[in-house]
Amino acid sequence: MPAEPSEAAGQGPLELRLKDLRPTERPIVIVARVVSVQRREITRRSDGGRRPVLSGLLSDGTATVRFTWWDPPSEEIERGTVLRAGPVQVREFRGRAEVTFGWKTRVAPANESELPSLRAEDLPVARVGTLTDGDEGFRLEARVAKVQPKTVSVGEERRLLYEGLLLDASGSVGFTAWSDFRLTPGAAIRIVGGYVRAFRGRPQVILDERSHVETIDGRALPTLDDWQRSGPAPIASLGASRGAEHVVLEGVVVGLSPPSGLVYRCPECRRNVTKGLCRLHGSVQGEADLRARIVLDDGTGAVTVNAGLDDTERLWGRRLADCLEQLRQLPDASLLEEQLFEALFGRRLRASGRATADDFGVTLYPESLLELPSVEVDPGAVAREVSEGRR
Ligand SMILES: [Zn+2]
Repeated sequence: MPAEPSEAAGQGPLELRLKDLRPTERPIVIVARVVSVQRREITRRSDGGRRPVLSGLLSDGTATVRFTWWDPPSEEIERGTVLRAGPVQVREFRGRAEVTFGWKTRVAPANESELPSLRAEDLPVARVGTLTDGDEGFRLEARVAKVQPKTVSVGEERRLLYEGLLLDASGSVGFTAWSDFRLTPGAAIRIVGGYVRAFRGRPQVILDERSHVETIDGRALPTLDDWQRSGPAPIASLGASRGAEHVVLEGVVVGLSPPSGLVYRCPECRRNVTKGLCRLHGSVQGEADLRARIVLDDGTGAVTVNAGLDDTERLWGRRLADCLEQLRQLPDASLLEEQLFEALFGRRLRASGRATADDFGVTLYPESLLELPSVEVDPGAVAREVSEGRR
């Protein structure tokens, strides 16, 4: 809602949240955190003199805006610094507000507590399935499907964070929490002050020390049981949604994509080694591995399921060591690929995990890959169900 200057406020400076910024003649004051910042020098056309400028992004939890700061102080402005600045000039560029700090602008460090407090009821409700990169200033009610701690290196520092999956009736989305919100699987939560960033091509909710998380009764949310028992999604739906953070698929094995069978991997990065060469590490001694890039079809579409060593050995019923032994006696790796294909062709599988979509199709990275009892499957029947809206 645009904040109109009220009459009582007169024409003095107006402090606005970033989401309420609009071009105006009125002096505007903002309090915001520096999310990113870059120093440059612009060459003046008139005399060729150089003028320093800082630019980057500011956020106050309600929105993120670009800023430009002409003739900034020579000291570094660190990411994370909270600033109070005013009067700032507000412009609109491609429908988004931007701020400029000029010679009249006073910029001073501010305290974290001066950032606007985010009240849940002021924020629009978001749904897990429609979050996109850059979203913030929303409130989200979701159930924690999974959560696990992870230690990462940030520069010199070791940081503990929590990764997991959130779900509501619209779908699921991954999250990373940089603080310990004591999340447990099954908990229903309301999130205020989170934001969304793309990670490996999928949106992800980020929670940091500014985010507020509280538990709610969650009666309106699907339970973990509902979620685990949910039926398979039509494969055709994944291309349209550009993948999914967690999806269950069922289908029939109709092919194998290369490389499948016995492969050699770089000992450094695990990439496939072809002719003794890793495309990152050059000439390496490849390590033998088994994999199957299984093409699964459910009648609506096909997906490539990227099965690793354990799943491939289990589904095939052969071990890597046997394959290497066969290769010593019959030095033909393509024979192994043929035998793997014959063993898998026509079997019904249920796979669940993260799916990514690109121009080459959809790939599923299975967390679980199970064989289903073989029944007569009529892929045409599945397609009809989908077209009739029964799936
Ligand atoms: Zn490598």
